[in-house]
Amino acid sequence: MKNLLPVSSAGSLPKPVWLAQPETLWSPWKLQGDALVEGKQDALRLSLQEQIRAGVDIVSDGEQSRQHFVTTFIEHLSGVDFENRKTVRIRNRYDASVPVVVDAVTRPKPVFADDAWFLRQLTDQPIKWALPGPMTMIDTLYDNHYKSREKLAWEFAKILNQEARELEAAGVDIIQFDEPAFNVFFDEVNDWGIAALERAIEGLKCETAVHICYGYGIKANTDWKKTLGDEWRQYEAVFPKLQQSNIDLISLECHNSRVPMELIELLRGKKVMVGAIDVANTAIESPEEVADTLRKALQFVDADKLYPCTNCGMAPLSREVANAKLAALSAGAQIVRNELGR
Ligand SMILES: [Zn+2]
Repeated sequence: MKNLLPVSSAGSLPKPVWLAQPETLWSPWKLQGDALVEGKQDALRLSLQEQIRAGVDIVSDGEQSRQHFVTTFIEHLSGVDFENRKTVRIRNRYDASVPVVVDAVTRPKPVFADDAWFLRQLTDQPIKWALPGPMTMIDTLYDNHYKSREKLAWEFAKILNQEARELEAAGVDIIQFDEPAFNVFFDEVNDWGIAALERAIEGLKCETAVHICYGYGIKANTDWKKTLGDEWRQYEAVFPKLQQSNIDLISLECHNSRVPMELIELLRGKKVMVGAIDVANTAIESPEEVADTLRKALQFVDADKLYPCTNCGMAPLSREVANAKLAALSAGAQIVRNELGR
């Protein structure tokens, strides 16, 4: 990466009004068939353009090609029944109607490879592509076949590895696995969660990242955060083992959160994507606020390993707000770059 402090976003960005209802999480598509394919590609062009204008260095598809960060991937797998759903508790936080694993899970064909090829031909900038992590996938399903969270996670890890290899071949520079479940099931993370993630990245030459956040700014998450006390020390349980893992980058939530910044020290040696933008409110951070968060992080991560980022995805925000937040992130990173250059 040529720039010091390369800027990226953690995940989803708002979709245009003609593709899906704005400011709505997991909003259904407004188009169908060929029109949907073309609509997603146009949205991707638009999102890329807006990221570049906002000064983002490592660009993404802004998740324009998916409705939900886990379900859209699972929809492409066989062995999962989407008709007869069951209600489960997601990350011990809220109930959701989810598909059921009824048979061995397999991936009959690539899921996002075509979208990644499409994005690759539109830009020379580094591309980051997000996939759900194995543990978060099993937490968004009811398993009636393997009857073991670990076994199912291992099967998903093998499938994710096939997908990741194709994304790499399409020219993706960083493959990110979203694992909000790593912030909840600490014993399982250390027992087999990180091992499953390492299975998912086996043999990859591109860089790999894991995104661990406190979730979108939806009520179930903000209510949960209120129960976490004055200091959020969840990362402390999983960072030591992640530091030892083969994952290259760790993406985490910092700005406006109660995560003690010194926990980043536990990752020393890893590249750290520091969330310097709050996605749970619509107030636009000032570049100085962003710079302040990055300066604090610099006490615990070397400058060449600091990647300014957002706390999480911004799909539920308006395009205006999301673009302004990305621009503030870039401007804040530039302030700190200038200071480091002196
Ligand atoms: Zn997130």
